[in-house]
Amino acid sequence: MKTLRTTCCVVGGGPAGVMLGYLLARAGIKVTVLEKHEDFFRDFRGDTVHPSTLDIMHQLGLLDGLLQLPHQRVTSVSARIGNLDFAAADFRLVPSRCKFVALMPQWDFLNFLSERAKRFASFELRMRHEGTGLFRDGGRIAGVEAQSPDGPLQIAADLVVACDGRHSTIRQSARLSVQEFGVPIDVLWFRISRQPHDPEQVLGNINYGKALILINRGNYFQAGLIIRKGTFEQIKAKGLDALRQNIAQIAPYLRDRVAEIEDWDQLKLLTVQVNRLRRWHLPGLLCIGDAAHAMSPAGGVGINLAIQDAVAAANILTGPLRAGRVTDLILKQVQRRREFPTRVTQFLQVNAHKALNAAFQTDGPIQVPWQLKVVDALPGRKWIMGYVVGVGVRPEHVVDAETIRIPQSLQKLAVRFGASIGAIMKTARFLRAC
Ligand SMILES: Cc1cc2nc3c(=O)[nH]c(=O)nc-3n(C[C@H](O)[C@H](O)[C@H](O)COP(=O)(O)OP(=O)(O)OC[C@H]3O[C@@H](n4cnc5c(N)ncnc54)[C@H](O)[C@@H]3O)c2cc1C
Repeated sequence: MKTLRTTCCVVGGGPAGVMLGYLLARAGIKVTVLEKHEDFFRDFRGDTVHPSTLDIMHQLGLLDGLLQLPHQRVTSVSARIGNLDFAAADFRLVPSRCKFVALMPQWDFLNFLSERAKRFASFELRMRHEGTGLFRDGGRIAGVEAQSPDGPLQIAADLVVACDGRHSTIRQSARLSVQEFGVPIDVLWFRISRQPHDPEQVLGNINYGKALILINRGNYFQAGLIIRKGTFEQIKAKGLDALRQNIAQIAPYLRDRVAEIEDWDQLKLLTVQVNRLRRWHLPGLLCIGDAAHAMSPAGGVGINLAIQDAVAAANILTGPLRAGRVTDLILKQVQRRREFPTRVTQFLQVNAHKALNAAFQTDGPIQVPWQLKVVDALPGRKWIMGYVVGVGVRPEHVVDAETIRIPQSLQKLAVRFGASIGAIMKTARFLRAC
């Protein structure tokens, strides 16, 4: 079998993988990114580039180029819940360079970033290369087995980073254990045309036991009908007419356009998952992005988290990769750094699902709960939510490659500090349970 050698082999060319590849190559580290598809053109997988990701692009000097690509700017998100107009989040006060979420097709973002990465001599992107497993040298993972257009291939590496998404082959191959959090919803994605007088900003509509998200994409809406988990077959059985009526019932201004949905093939079912690895690493292997923690589309933060993981990983790993000494302790630091923001975000997502599920208990007009009216009246709430969604917990900053020289003693301290936070959290959970 043909064998190649690289310093870091990244499996998966999604937001996490391409960003990590870019950052490591920028620091002069030889990196090979494997992507199983022949291009980045995929079904809808989220188009949201958040203020904190735009900040990262600015730190890399890529922001102006990125914003030259066609995109829409979302400065606020609102929801119509029954007869209540609920201002869910406002990004205009976030402490970021860009006070908006940029909506752009994910393939445009990935094409842009990978094209820029290719300018670094140490970056290699191998399309149509599928990671199929791992190989070991003693107790350590020593590289990736892959299927290429020319046949099977082995890529030996000092470090393998799994960025191959929610159905990660690499994490399965490593037998890392996954903690699942039940999700009561699925999403049906489809497109429907948009008229100039339709709402400008992202709008959620919740009523009649369903929720409809409408993302303004210029002349069309990227629409997501949120349904109770596992009910797609029942919805299908009721027929397309019933579905069209449901949509028109929740968002009456779409009534004249629902006929555009002519076939079930126009609807794509996303089985929503929220899960997290207990341990994100093994000697020689690290998982980040959805491969370490599958995110729900709630809040549209999955891409952002994947990018932040990549930045944190690059900040921590650049020095050790250069020195050829990526210990398990170093990999543990990446998990310590990113697990907390992941936990908080998933906690919020799981609770958002619960609230939605409660709203789904009746097929009639929704009675807006008084608690929601109280929350709606809280001053400053939409700015706080704007921060939580747009910037998130523990936003990362690109550390200049030259400054990454962390002494071993500090690395150990960082891990200990992380461990104490873990202990405090466990105690708090225990006390709450009492
Ligand atoms: C329908 C849908 C809608 C979503 N909406 C949003 C949204 O609006 N906003 C948002 O922020 N997030 C959204 N998400 C979540 C978001 O897409 C993910 O959280 C984010 O893309 C994770 O990035 P990633 O790089 O970790 O993984 P992915 O984006 O999943 O990328 C993984 C990459 O690895 C490749 N790959 C997989 N297996 C292999 C292999 N064995 N070998 C080589 N390559 C491989 C895949 O082709 C893919 O390119 C949505 C997800 C879905 C499915």
